[in-house]
Amino acid sequence: MPAILLSIGDELILGQTVDTNAAWLAGRLSGLGIGCVEHRTVPDDLDHIAEVIQQCAEAAKVLIITGGLGPTDDDLTRPALAKAMGVDLTEDPASVEHIASYFKGRGRVMPERNRIQATHPQTSTMIENTCGTAPGIRATLGHCEVFVTPGVPREMKAMFEHEIEPAIQDRAGTARTILTAKLNSFGSGESDIADRLGPLMARDRNPLVGTTVANGYVSVRVRSEHEDPRQAKALLEEALAQAKDKVGPLAFGQNEVALQDVVIALLTEQGKTIAVAESCTGGLISGMLTDVPGSSASVLGGWVTYANEMKAEQLGVPMALIEQHGAVSQQVVEAMASGALEQSGADFALSTSGIAGPGGGSKDKPVGTVWIGMAYREGEAVKAIARLAILPGDREAVRDRSAKCALQLLRLQLMGEDLNQMKWASAP
Ligand code: AMP
Ligand code: MG
Repeated sequence: MPAILLSIGDELILGQTVDTNAAWLAGRLSGLGIGCVEHRTVPDDLDHIAEVIQQCAEAAKVLIITGGLGPTDDDLTRPALAKAMGVDLTEDPASVEHIASYFKGRGRVMPERNRIQATHPQTSTMIENTCGTAPGIRATLGHCEVFVTPGVPREMKAMFEHEIEPAIQDRAGTARTILTAKLNSFGSGESDIADRLGPLMARDRNPLVGTTVANGYVSVRVRSEHEDPRQAKALLEEALAQAKDKVGPLAFGQNEVALQDVVIALLTEQGKTIAVAESCTGGLISGMLTDVPGSSASVLGGWVTYANEMKAEQLGVPMALIEQHGAVSQQVVEAMASGALEQSGADFALSTSGIAGPGGGSKDKPVGTVWIGMAYREGEAVKAIARLAILPGDREAVRDRSAKCALQLLRLQLMGEDLNQMKWASAP
């Protein structure tokens, strides 16, 4: 059953907004086994939209339109659909109520121009909007079922899941279900991960397994295909489990899961706390950790100690140690981590000190040299360890990978895994 996606908006045509709706919807349709044959994008122009709706309705059995349902003069999808259907717009009293109560719930009076959002072409029905004002529209145009949702991605997704998916999911026909997933790892290069995967990466397999690199993460991509959606899912799960087994402890999570999500989950699970003492990462580790909702249960706080004096005053790093070994050294990151642990009373502390570049490198310590420290308690005693990373890339990359190395070391420690698994941060 061919489907077409139609995105409406000047901002999309001008390239000011990336059409994430079409990408998301295409993924969901292929997951349902519904073949998407075309993506179209048109500007906010009534005649143009009406003409393209007619063309799409002739070529497809399902047409999903997003955008142009707002209350302003450039929101023209409603009248354009009415024109394509050859009917007038009519107002839906229940929708007027719904929109008015949406505003009332926020302590506001419904602006008169929002009333237009309660109109829809005669013979069409409305789709409830659970997270915004504009209802969606469901209509039949010839042999095509047409669904219209607002452009706001959150509202579009809610409508798809509540109304559109249930309405179309039994129409998969003969198309094959295609499912994709990613297994993310950090701490070793792409070729090493590919070696570990071995024959799993053969090009003639189903599921098809490949690798991609983004922001230092090496991800194993899995794509499974089957006529039966349940079989497609089972194949996908099996390949993911095999990939996880091959990649080993450096694999930390699937799809959009980031290292900090897993670290916070482990700390919370174990009832442990963390403090951070950062030099070259300048707060990145603290930022990543506190990005995670619920991190307040385990993150106590941290220091950005860029100057040597701050390392000494705030964390108690002996000046003599800095003078003897330099600020970028095993001894200093260990002292930073121990200092942070003692000052904060946390169970774990992470520290970083390195040369992020582009200047400041030397023969002994080239740009990209980063020491990462970790302190933790063993009974009454405080134990501190350090790892050395020599990281490629520009300043941004070096800082980002340093923060991730620290998080991965902590994750391995929390899981009782061997820290030497980390190829990018080796023992002194
Ligand atoms: P509209 O329903 O046309 O008023 O769109 C509301 C907002 O949703 C726009 O200002 C965009 O920021 C966003 N938006 C609209 N269409 C898309 C799309 N295809 N992909 C991503 N965002 C969109
Ligand atoms: Mg718009």
